[in-house]
Amino acid sequence: MDLLEYQGKQLFAKHGLEISAGRAVTTVDDAVAAANELGYPVVVKAQVLIGGRGKAGGVKLASNEAEALEHATNILGLDIKGHIVHELWIEKASDIADEYYASILLDRSAKAPLLMFSVEGGIDIEEVAEKTPEKLVKLHIDPLDGITREQAVQVATQGGADADVIESVADILVALYDVWIKEDATLTEINPLIITPDRKAKALDAKVTLDNNALYRHPEAENFHVQGAVDPIEEKAKALGLQYVALDGDIGILGNGAGLAMSTLDVVAQAGGAPANFLDAAGGSNAAVIKTAVEVILSNPRVKAVLFNIFGGITRCDEVANGLLAAFAELETDIPFVVRLDGTNDLLGRKILEEAAIPNVHPAATMNEAAEKVVALAKERS
Ligand code: GDP
Ligand code: MN
Repeated sequence: MDLLEYQGKQLFAKHGLEISAGRAVTTVDDAVAAANELGYPVVVKAQVLIGGRGKAGGVKLASNEAEALEHATNILGLDIKGHIVHELWIEKASDIADEYYASILLDRSAKAPLLMFSVEGGIDIEEVAEKTPEKLVKLHIDPLDGITREQAVQVATQGGADADVIESVADILVALYDVWIKEDATLTEINPLIITPDRKAKALDAKVTLDNNALYRHPEAENFHVQGAVDPIEEKAKALGLQYVALDGDIGILGNGAGLAMSTLDVVAQAGGAPANFLDAAGGSNAAVIKTAVEVILSNPRVKAVLFNIFGGITRCDEVANGLLAAFAELETDIPFVVRLDGTNDLLGRKILEEAAIPNVHPAATMNEAAEKVVALAKERS
């Protein structure tokens, strides 16, 4: 889960990093009010989940109310590499003597966090890594020991930080690791890590990615939820425990169980069709889950026909059939559905579907029969 700059800064502040005062706003009026309250100069910053905002015109200094108004008006609604700006962070401007770089990311191959530091900050760090790799200091941190202050000082020194700010930079590196480990982040990045004219290091930007698998340990991270960052339908699917992956074809797929869903992709491909998605509905048989699954599958405009491949184990086919009926009663679609029901109570399940006689629902008994049917139906519609 990627956080917006100001959300990342909230976590930074929680772990003792010094952050400039600021306000998150969503309207021009609130932006101007926030700027007046903070006092000029302020920086008006687009809050989007993409880097390079500065270059794209999404970060502007305002030295008075008229400029705050102008920048807020221009930046709200701005399209930054496909990300529309809905929110601004108005921050008290800092004076900058120097721009450094610091980050900690999860190095999966080393199975350890990797601390990186450079005095070449403010710019694209990939460029530094490529052109002047000697200016990027790297240190793996033993996750059991954490970072020591000596290590932090050493990294700052090795990276060429000015002698009078080494202690201050080391403080930040230690705190940055604190954020990383305690918040279960996979990335904490400060670019630029500025040196102020009074020779103090400070985080001017924040990029934080939290580990989704650890979010249950951080219920407060729910507040960081960014509107529009995830497709609302996929999000709904996730909330109901559906595993959905979009693919390139035109045949929607649902299987109950990941293995069955994967074999369904294979069988459809074998029958000459192209799957539009992978969707594992797990043990889902109730109408709400099925309705959501159908909505998720049909949210892909390429889908011409759908194959439901259900093997009844603990899930009973009659339950699934009733779930389907309830779902179809609420859904308005003429896309053909082939439903293969096999396993526990399969005869009863197919009977329920046959008796309901929904024109676009076609029961099938075997996987091959179902695959051939769905491929034929999709071809009819293309
Ligand atoms: P990014 O372009 O998305 O990485 O956004 P940043 O938050 O890193 O801001 C881009 C650049 O704007 C920084 O590298 C700074 O040079 C400049 N900037 C941001 N905040 C301030 C500030 O408070 N004062 C000054 N003078 N410049 C700032
Ligand atoms: Mn930046």
